[in-house]
Amino acid sequence: MKLYAPNYYKDFHCIASDCKHSCCVGWEIDIDKDSLSRYQSMTHPYGEIIRKHIEMQDDTACFALTKEERCPFLKENGLCDMILTLGEDSLCQICRDHPRFRSFFSDREEIGIGLCCEEAARLVLCQKEKTEVVMLSDDGENEDLWEEEDALLALREKLFDILQNRSIPLAERADRMLQKVSAKPITDLPSWIERLMSLEQLDPAWQKLLNKLNTQERTPKDLDWPLEKFMLYLLYRHLPNAEDESEIRATVRFAYLGYLLVKTICENTNTPIEEAARLFSSEIEYSEENTATLMAFLRE
Ligand code: SF4
Repeated sequence: MKLYAPNYYKDFHCIASDCKHSCCVGWEIDIDKDSLSRYQSMTHPYGEIIRKHIEMQDDTACFALTKEERCPFLKENGLCDMILTLGEDSLCQICRDHPRFRSFFSDREEIGIGLCCEEAARLVLCQKEKTEVVMLSDDGENEDLWEEEDALLALREKLFDILQNRSIPLAERADRMLQKVSAKPITDLPSWIERLMSLEQLDPAWQKLLNKLNTQERTPKDLDWPLEKFMLYLLYRHLPNAEDESEIRATVRFAYLGYLLVKTICENTNTPIEEAARLFSSEIEYSEENTATLMAFLRE
């Protein structure tokens, strides 16, 4: 298996106690089976503390959040008590991985960092180099990818080239991206905002932002650079899930809608782009239900 990632991936580091939107607050923390059995058989005195915080929800074990919706191991200073006591290897899978995401092909795995994390958003949107997908490791097994996988990766590469052609304005590049896959343009942003407001709402800040959004009043800003990065991120992350042409078109429209919406939020409300992208990501990408509903709308 070959492991690939965008060229900025290795620069990511969690900023822990400096993080204003810690992933250890407000998110359910499911415990994978291997970690659960490790915790259940732990003889270290801290094992008892860990076990005290485990609860079952349906068939899934998770850490019970405090009434302030914080992970029970998150200290007031923003550091993780479990890491401080037992080291990083003691964490369950989801805590070790977050904010990383993975896509799987026959002989290829891709990894990236999700924009719901403020540090990932800063890194992805602000880096100056062109985005390239690079190989991180190779186990030497030279299996061919399936034909459809090759075709999808080649298409994503072409879309990357279109979006990174900085000799033309970004708005035109975004239109060319849609044309490349014969996807319908997205013109009526207010009706898309209504659709977004009909989805499951996770963070009240998102609802508040959408509520006050006035698509007519904008102060133009030069956001081409970070918005280019934002679309590349959305394509990198979501195109591998597209199983047919209609899903490919919907995913490309998803990237376009993200671009249009985040640009409008920044120009109408003065929200910094890292924050607008972070909210879009946590509200849409980190809710399977919201992503699926939006993709279904975009398939029209
Ligand atoms: S959101 Fe990102 S930077 Fe903040 S605590 Fe989580 S991984 Fe670290």
